[in-house]
Amino acid sequence: MMSETKIHREMNSEKRHLNVTAIENGTVIDHIPANNVFKVLHILDLENNKNQVLFGDNLDSRKYGKKGIIKVSNTFFAKGEINKIALVAPTATFIEIKDFEVVTKKQVEVPDHIQSIVKCFNPNCITNVESVPSHFTVVDKTEMKLLCHYCEKITGRNNIVFK
Ligand SMILES: [Zn+2]
Repeated sequence: MMSETKIHREMNSEKRHLNVTAIENGTVIDHIPANNVFKVLHILDLENNKNQVLFGDNLDSRKYGKKGIIKVSNTFFAKGEINKIALVAPTATFIEIKDFEVVTKKQVEVPDHIQSIVKCFNPNCITNVESVPSHFTVVDKTEMKLLCHYCEKITGRNNIVFK
């Protein structure tokens, strides 16, 4: 049988754990597909964010089996930024926290245009030969077909490489 002191100690350690993982103000990006957390960190440039960034990958999720999660303090994302991660985390939710309370939840939507973050799969495309940022129109949002603005070739879901 557990002694009362031990139970008390465990409750204290749980409280500490919550203090570390909860954020006062900022954004929780939840339901990232497992193994795509690092891609999301890269696309949102969180590698260079000066605020506290916590993340976990391959966590158990009731809804998706395994998932990733990112928590960023004092950072809120505009719609354009949120939609940038549609290619790697279409299921993600951006949860905005203020004073430890959830204020909004935003769902990722596939944007009409994708710039700079993806490489054109055509090696002869000007965006791969010269320092021209890539620019695609998303012609199929379910299959993720990206039409290159320069060479007019289609980069498909399986050819997507991030810059
Ligand atoms: Zn191209």
